[in-house]
Amino acid sequence: MTGVPVQDQTSQDGRTAVVIGGGIVGISCALFLQRDGWTVTVIDPAEPGSPDQTSYGNAGSISSSSVMPTALPGVIKQVPKMLADPTGPLAIQWRYLPRLVPFLTSFLRYSSRENVEASGRAIAAMIHRVSDAYGILLEETGTREMVVPNGSLKVYKTDQSFAASAFERELLEKNDCRYDVLNEDEIRQLEPALQPIFKHAIFMPDSSTAVNPGRMVARFAEHFVAKGGTIVRGEARDVRFRDGTPRTVVTGAGDHEGDLIVLAAGAWSRELAAKLGARVLLEAERGYHVMLPKPPVMPNRFITFMDRKFATLPHEVGLRITSGVEYAKVDAPPDYRRIRSMIPFAQESIRDLDATEQSIWLGRRPTLPNSVPVISRSPKHDNVLLAFGHSHLGLTMGPATGQIIADLAAGRDSGIDLTPYRPDR
Ligand SMILES: Cc1cc2nc3c(=O)[nH]c(=O)nc-3n(C[C@H](O)[C@H](O)[C@H](O)COP(=O)(O)OP(=O)(O)OC[C@H]3O[C@@H](n4cnc5c(N)ncnc54)[C@H](O)[C@@H]3O)c2cc1C
Repeated sequence: MTGVPVQDQTSQDGRTAVVIGGGIVGISCALFLQRDGWTVTVIDPAEPGSPDQTSYGNAGSISSSSVMPTALPGVIKQVPKMLADPTGPLAIQWRYLPRLVPFLTSFLRYSSRENVEASGRAIAAMIHRVSDAYGILLEETGTREMVVPNGSLKVYKTDQSFAASAFERELLEKNDCRYDVLNEDEIRQLEPALQPIFKHAIFMPDSSTAVNPGRMVARFAEHFVAKGGTIVRGEARDVRFRDGTPRTVVTGAGDHEGDLIVLAAGAWSRELAAKLGARVLLEAERGYHVMLPKPPVMPNRFITFMDRKFATLPHEVGLRITSGVEYAKVDAPPDYRRIRSMIPFAQESIRDLDATEQSIWLGRRPTLPNSVPVISRSPKHDNVLLAFGHSHLGLTMGPATGQIIADLAAGRDSGIDLTPYRPDR
């Protein structure tokens, strides 16, 4: 190990931190570090909360119950379909396959029942911290109205699709995540916006809905700046070392020195992580959204439609429909067919839905093979902290990650076993 010894204290007055990436994860790290007295600079070529970030266009679910990784038992049988059908819930772009082999090999290894249970435990341990961490940030940034604590819903059209959720329900119970099973009548009462075609539902009462995730991140960033933080619009291109310790982040907009460096560049973190001492199989699980006008009766909360694997968010400016997973190069051109193919199913599911497309978007979920994020000190450098790879749950886990990163920076015990979140897992 090299680097500056970490101080066992809360106030870090006078010490400087550079955070690479200003999405929900980076901004949350910046805010929690700032609370401890660090002087923080965030570096990002994109405006926090803007469409260039995955944190902008997600489905807004602050989930209390998504404990399932992407790689599930039996996923191996789906690989041919993933390659053949670009609009399926899991798809792989052919030309990207050779590069994806190491990731997929590890992904398939993690899909055993035993490994899925271990990943589920690590995801759940983070989820149990979400409410407290969000509470702090919403309170301090004055953004309470942006998150509605009204639970989330998964709906099923058939007995078979509901029966297929048995393993998920087992994992929820094992990990103390509350849920209720609803029948047709209860679904109708809870969500009058839905067509009466759903036989079963799972209601997760502890989840919340962020009604405009991009605007929330922008508001968090405004608060950070108002409290003395700096945001530099630039891309971190390199890191310079002094006496073997990473010290300076080199950007097109100048060099930025810090006692502490936090890497939170989402799906773009892989190369910088390698420079900073951590080799990771990080890929982009790309996902899309399309915005439609608000229907006459808006759904009350985030809903996942399990038979077709799409979700809807009652966003403050319209109904957002989000899609499943596409493995492709992070910056490959979008393939909007997959999200557009969901619109007829949304119309079938939601009463009087007008399908006029208002906008369409592609985002990149930063993902490791077992869907468990990296939240860790660098294995090589004490003054480097890593916070990326939050996959389908970055909006959910961002603030809790920021809190843990601040604990690590201060040398405090964060009260969670961080072993599963190491890069060298
Ligand atoms: C369709 C879809 C639906 C989703 N729904 C949900 C949901 O309902 N709930 C949930 O919890 N999660 C959801 N997610 C996942 C969630 O959006 C992500 O996990 C989360 O946004 C990741 O946050 P981040 O800060 O790591 O990444 P980002 O928001 O992508 O931020 C990373 C930032 O790093 C910057 N960056 C990149 N390279 C550099 C560099 N070299 N130097 C400086 N900065 C750099 C980028 O410009 C970017 O601003 C969804 C994702 C998608 C695609």
